[in-house]
Amino acid sequence: MSKMKSAAAPFRATLQELHRKYATVADGRVATYIPELATADPAGFGISVVTADGLRFDVGDAERLFSIQSVSKPFVFGLALEDHGRERVLAKVGVEPTGEAFNAIVLDEATNRPFNPMVNAGAIATTDLIRGEDHADRFKRLLAMLGRYVGREVFVDSATFLSERATGHRNRAIAHLMLNFGMIEDRVDETLELYFQQCSALVDCRDLAVMGATLANGGVNPLTGERAIEARYVKDVLSIMLSCGIYDFAGEWAFRIGIPAKSGVGGGIVAVIPGVAGIGVYSPPLDERGNSVRGVLVCKELSERFGLHILEAGHAGPALLDEIRPGRRGG
Ligand code: GLN
Repeated sequence: MSKMKSAAAPFRATLQELHRKYATVADGRVATYIPELATADPAGFGISVVTADGLRFDVGDAERLFSIQSVSKPFVFGLALEDHGRERVLAKVGVEPTGEAFNAIVLDEATNRPFNPMVNAGAIATTDLIRGEDHADRFKRLLAMLGRYVGREVFVDSATFLSERATGHRNRAIAHLMLNFGMIEDRVDETLELYFQQCSALVDCRDLAVMGATLANGGVNPLTGERAIEARYVKDVLSIMLSCGIYDFAGEWAFRIGIPAKSGVGGGIVAVIPGVAGIGVYSPPLDERGNSVRGVLVCKELSERFGLHILEAGHAGPALLDEIRPGRRGG
């Protein structure tokens, strides 16, 4: 894949500067509740940015593979929307932030729905909605969907999958509670396996940036030209990412950083500046809420430096694009 079309862009130096600055941050701990995740290298650190028209910038360990974990959730939510339409999906999962941990065993008392598709309960409910003849077919459709966003074939890491399956009792409890309320179909083992497979898909942070850029580009992968999701569902996915993507830090994230994003306990974060670019960060040490410490810091600094908050007047990242393409305004 071509590295960059404009090697001299000052933006590359900016990313290198951020990488140097935050590489020294030693806060956070790698996840251990899924034993395979405990083997992650805490020093691994990559940042990638891909513009909505396909320029790419990478720094650090941008090609180191890790499990996508919860970063898969908004994309599977998008697939559920395509498979069933908005109303049928919303009958099974809400769109309210919880302010609770991602693995909270809690459903909405009034509707019995999980609160949103970004916490595990809602994610398992959306995984349940993936259509297919059988498990193999649903699995293939899931991987094909991720592959369209990434622009290459996606594989599942067996060790991570087995590790999740061996220890996923909390997710099993959540799924059975939802089965009890008729929120998911009576094929809990299959759906949980599919959910564990989805979380164990391997990506690097360049992939995350391309996935973000695809959402930033209205659902079309800017590197392959392939549509990954119907245009009408892109804003549904992005709104949930903005309100619920960073779990119990989502409100603070929306306030301070203000761009739709999703984190995963593998250390990945994807962030989307609509119409402008996707950002992918990889750094396994997590804060107590399960978000990559360096990932949050990098997104915060990029947002503040370039005025990326989507509610900022005149947003659309002009400052960012100026740095990526210095001569773009004919100056
Ligand atoms: N597979 C993880 C789990 O179900 C995903 C959680 C996450 O990335 N926050 O616990």
